[in-house]
Amino acid sequence: MTVQTAKQLKNFINGEWVESTTDQYQSVPNPATGEEIARVPLSTKEDVDKAVNNAREAYKLWKKTPVPKRSRIFYKYHQLLMEHYEELAELITIENGKTYEDAYGEVLRGIECVEFASGAPHLMKGEVLPEIATNIESSMYRYPVGVVGGITPFNFPMMVPCWMFPLAIACGNSFVMKPSEQTPLLAERLVELFMEAGLPKGVLNIVHGAHDVVNGLLEHDEVDAISFVGSQPVAEYVYSTGTRYGKRVQALAGAKNHSIVLGDAEMDKTIEGIIGGAFGSAGQRCMATAVVVVTEDVADDVVNRLIEAADQLKLGDGLKKDVNLGPVIRDTHLERVHQAIEEGVAEGAKLVRDGREDVKSELPPGFFLGATIFDHVSSDMKVWEKEIFAPVLSIVRVKNLTEAIEFTNRSEFGNGSVLYTTSGAAVREYREDIEVGMLGVNVNVPAPMAFFPFSGWKKSFYGDLHANGMDGVNFYTRRKMVTSRWS
Ligand code: NAD
Repeated sequence: MTVQTAKQLKNFINGEWVESTTDQYQSVPNPATGEEIARVPLSTKEDVDKAVNNAREAYKLWKKTPVPKRSRIFYKYHQLLMEHYEELAELITIENGKTYEDAYGEVLRGIECVEFASGAPHLMKGEVLPEIATNIESSMYRYPVGVVGGITPFNFPMMVPCWMFPLAIACGNSFVMKPSEQTPLLAERLVELFMEAGLPKGVLNIVHGAHDVVNGLLEHDEVDAISFVGSQPVAEYVYSTGTRYGKRVQALAGAKNHSIVLGDAEMDKTIEGIIGGAFGSAGQRCMATAVVVVTEDVADDVVNRLIEAADQLKLGDGLKKDVNLGPVIRDTHLERVHQAIEEGVAEGAKLVRDGREDVKSELPPGFFLGATIFDHVSSDMKVWEKEIFAPVLSIVRVKNLTEAIEFTNRSEFGNGSVLYTTSGAAVREYREDIEVGMLGVNVNVPAPMAFFPFSGWKKSFYGDLHANGMDGVNFYTRRKMVTSRWS
C-alpha cells in the first residue's frame, strides 16, 4: 500500500470523521523521502470539549455493557487486526521510518495488548472474604474510572496507543486519544477497525493536534484519567498538571538505557544484541541501548567488533527489504542529533564511527544518519547524560561489574538495562543492585509483554501504576469495598 496523495486528517468524534475547528494544519512527511503524506489539524480546546462530552455520554452505556459482551468485540477486533497485519506494518514504516521488519514486530506488540484486554471478564473480577467477622463479609468490586485521555509519542504509532485504549475500554471506560502529530495515521486505522468490530460510537475518539489538545484534556472537568507516553520534560509537565486538576495520571517518560558487557559474555551474540538494541528503529525506542558499559579486559575487542558490525548496516527507506537502518523522524530532530554529536566531540568523547559519513547522495531525500559510536565516554559528558534518541551509541569502560552498576545508577533515568554475561552470580548482583525497572539478561530489548507492567523507574516514569498488566487494570478501574452483615 502506498499513500498516493496527502490526506487532510479529521478528528473522530462520536463515530464520525469531523473537521477540526482549527485553521492550522501541520505537514506530515514520510521521513525516508521527505514527501508529504498527510496534513494533520492542530485541533482546538473546542474540539477536545466536543470529543470529551461525547465520550462522557458513551461512557454511561458502555460501563453498563456486560463485560463478556465487551470482550467479544475485542475478539472480532483481534481478528481484523490480524487480517490487516501487513497493511498496518507498512503504514508504520511510511509514517515513522522504521524498517518493515521493526514495524512488523511492533504490530504484534500492539495485538498482544488487545489479546490481554480480551481477558477483561477475568481481569475485572473482584474479591470476597466471606467471614471477616461472624456473619460479616467483605468484598471488592471493580468499576471503570470514566473518560480517559491518551497522549502518545511518534516512535511507536501502534504499540503505544495499544498500551492504552484497549485495556481502558475493556475495563468499561471511554477514551479520547491524541496521537502524535508526527505519526497520526496509524491511530486512524486502529479506530476504523475497532468500529468495524462493533465498538459503539463515542467510546473511542481521536482529537489530532499538539499541546493545545494536551492542555484541553488535562484541564477538562470531564476527563478522569490521563495516560501519557513521551519525553521526560513533557511527562513531568503532564503529570504535575494532570494531578493538579485532580486526575489520575500515568506518564511514561524518556530514557538512557545502559547495556553492561562482562568479559565472560558470549561475544557474537552480545555484539548482535547491542547492534539490534542500539540501531534498531534508528535508536528511536524508549528501550534502545544508548550506552554500553564494558569491562576493560574486552573493551577494545567489543569496540572493534561493534564498528565492524555497524559498517554492515544498510541505510535507507525501511520499505526496502535489504535496508536495516531507517531515517530519524524529522529534519529538525536530525539537526539536534548532529548538534549532540558535535557536543560529544567537543567534550572529548572519541568519535570512532561517524554515521554522518554514511549519508550518500544516492539515498532518498529523507532524514538519515548512519550508526554513530563514541568511545571513552564519561559521566561528566552531555552525550552520556542526555537522551539523544537516534542511532548514536556511547561506550564507557569500567574495571568490573560493581563499577558498571554504580555507573549505570548515576543516570537520572531508569527505564531499561541489559547485562551480557554467562555468570549466574553476576546476574544476581546486577538484578539486586541496579536501579532500573526493566532488565534484560542476554536479551537486547527487554520490553515486557502486555500482561506485565512496563515498569520504568526514576525520571523514566511519573505516577504509581504503570502501563499494561495488572497495573494497567488497576489504573483503569476504581474499587468499591463492601462490608456486609447478613445474620
Ligand atoms: P514528545 O514528548 O515530544 O511528545 C509526546 C506527546 O506529547 C505528543 O503527543 C506531543 O504532541 C505531546 N507534546 C509534546 N510537547 C508538548 C508540550 N510542550 N505540551 C504538551 N504536549 C506536548 O515525545 P516524542 O518525541 O513524540 O517521543 C519520543 C519520546 O518518548 C522519547 O523521549 C522516548 O524515550 C519517549 N518514550 C517513552 C516510552 C516509555 O515507555 N517510557 C515509550 C515510548 C517513547
